Amino acid sequence: MTDLLLLGQTLRFEADPFATPVEDAAVALTHGGVLVQDGRIAQVGDGAALRAAHPQARVVDHGDHLISAGFVDAHMHYPQTAMIASWGKRLIDWLNTYTFPEEMRFADEGYAHEIAGRTLDLALAHGTTTLTSFCTIHPASVRAFFDQAAARGMAVVAGKTCMDRNAPDGLRDTAQSAYDDSKSLLETYHGKARATYAITPRFSPTSTPDQLAAMGALWAEHPDVLMQTHLSEQTDEIAWVRDLFPSARDYLDTYEQFGLLGANGLYGHAIHLEPREVDRLAEVGAAVVHCPTSNTFIGSGLFDMAGIKARGIRTGLATDTGGGSSFSMLRTMAAAYEVAQLRGTALHPAHLMWLATEGSAQALRMGGHIGSLNVGAMADITVLDLASTPAIAQRTSRANDLWEALFPTIMMGDDRAIAATYVAGQRV
Ligand SMILES: [Zn+2]
Repeated sequence: MTDLLLLGQTLRFEADPFATPVEDAAVALTHGGVLVQDGRIAQVGDGAALRAAHPQARVVDHGDHLISAGFVDAHMHYPQTAMIASWGKRLIDWLNTYTFPEEMRFADEGYAHEIAGRTLDLALAHGTTTLTSFCTIHPASVRAFFDQAAARGMAVVAGKTCMDRNAPDGLRDTAQSAYDDSKSLLETYHGKARATYAITPRFSPTSTPDQLAAMGALWAEHPDVLMQTHLSEQTDEIAWVRDLFPSARDYLDTYEQFGLLGANGLYGHAIHLEPREVDRLAEVGAAVVHCPTSNTFIGSGLFDMAGIKARGIRTGLATDTGGGSSFSMLRTMAAAYEVAQLRGTALHPAHLMWLATEGSAQALRMGGHIGSLNVGAMADITVLDLASTPAIAQRTSRANDLWEALFPTIMMGDDRAIAATYVAGQRV
């Protein structure tokens, strides 16, 4: 395969900017280059020097656009793509009114393929190269998502959503069928192409203790796969969990009791945590996923980024489509900035870009493989136009450094800011 050399501004991270000063964690080059060989990043450095050293490489000059690692969405629901931005309601009403009727439709494998393909194409158009998705209870919904992702060469994480109570007829499985179907899908897809399987109990209100135990047993048999679920999103949800699991110490304990707390666990939202829950997440090395547009849209609350990061808990960033209100990780970064501001913390643009790329990748246990512009990572790349609209361009024209040039695009940008997206070195 011919080598590919991308020229432009480049931004990569050598460390977590939450733990290392930004000037040491981030490496930005005004005239940089990224050499891609066999779908992976082979070299990153001065563009002219790379061009001189690799005269045979096919060159794509992105000018003053910013070459970044592709965005990694660490939590979303592809079956909710067609009902994103549905008005009103809080979490439980919102699920019953909008989500569950739409998820019913995924018994139809043709419909599942249509929406999976649409979602993945929307993601790529927004510069997102990896999605981590809940599916529905239907195995067909999982097959459709993994097959559509493989056709696009994308690294994805997904799993069959398991629910055996508090969901309507047609959207409930059983403890045994959830175990059997999840196991079969896991064995078929995990590690094939660029697929990672995640055991996926939706959240403890929609699983009986028997089902949670079955999921825990499956995870114990396959500890290398991920486990994704929701945790402490809304206060009335937490009260409901307390009623459903009277012996649990807290919400996290409803997972912990059944073997569903571990280092490969991904806990979406994690807003209203008790001190014990934070301690346990930190102790076991679990990851949490911040979904800021969802948290404001559904009125859930303000995630404590500073507190969670200070405890060393791996943290990803996610759209939570369609509870989230945007497919764009730029808009998601903007919402993360706003939520942090409401908690009294101003996140630096480096924090936001890191969360949307390496932070999410590390949450998925894929640090260094995706979400990175460092040598050896897959060449999943997003190229940002930092002057994509007149409003952004007039602001960027006054910028004195990359961060000033980038921040208006984070706050005001959308898919118009995506100049190019590459998946494993292939432009899409
Ligand atoms: Zn969710």
